[in-house]
Amino acid sequence: MNPLIRPLIAGNWKMNGLRASQAEFELMLAGTAELADQADLLVCPPATLIAAFAERANASTALAIGGQDCHPDPAGAHTGDISAEMLADAGARAVIVGHSERRADHGESDGLVRQKAEAAWRAGLAAIVCIGETRQQRDLGHAVAVCRDQLKGSLPDGARADNLVVAYEPVWAIGTGLTPTPGDIQQIHELIREVLAMRFGVEGTSMRILYGGSVKPANARELLAIPNVNGALIGGASLKAADFLAIAADCP
Ligand code: PEP
Repeated sequence: MNPLIRPLIAGNWKMNGLRASQAEFELMLAGTAELADQADLLVCPPATLIAAFAERANASTALAIGGQDCHPDPAGAHTGDISAEMLADAGARAVIVGHSERRADHGESDGLVRQKAEAAWRAGLAAIVCIGETRQQRDLGHAVAVCRDQLKGSLPDGARADNLVVAYEPVWAIGTGLTPTPGDIQQIHELIREVLAMRFGVEGTSMRILYGGSVKPANARELLAIPNVNGALIGGASLKAADFLAIAADCP
């Protein structure tokens, strides 16, 4: 971990969480104070919980609330969608775009992901742009090329270190208990750093690059110590306050 880059530990609750989940969230909030020197924390609950969580979290500086997706437009006839402005209005500070579940389930292209990242910035949110190869692409030796292409197509121009985070999430590692070898993670994170530095200059050298895919307390320390891994995007293990906080505590 580059000691100059403050780590970000982000939780993606996906389509999980009811109002009763406020109790688990309160446990997370209670644990954040002692992690304040170590990492920034972000919880991305379903949209229905953003306002309630943000109201509690915004009083505490160590934990922010984010959305899981946004529409490129600020408003309009898009039934069921949510705009970046709506997320910001509810108290979100960031939004995940291009998660592989959105890319696969909703056919989202790199171009659409780029528009969503631009929408996030328009609304004053940081964009967490996800990329990552499938198992088949890795087996064919295409992981580097796939990630390079996704970066090229998904990242808007003009990114800054405070409004762009890139998350490397190999599709085959999400929710499976599988993770790439530390060497394979290092290789892709080095590639991402190279691309960010080439495109965004000095800003690109300090942007956060998260690893995501089956991160849990048992493997967090090893994964977070890999060069150019500046934090984690966590699905399943972010639903339990104890696991989420334990992972954050493992930031070097
Ligand atoms: C994710 O969905 O972004 C993710 C990394 O999930 P999990 O941690 O459950 O693999």
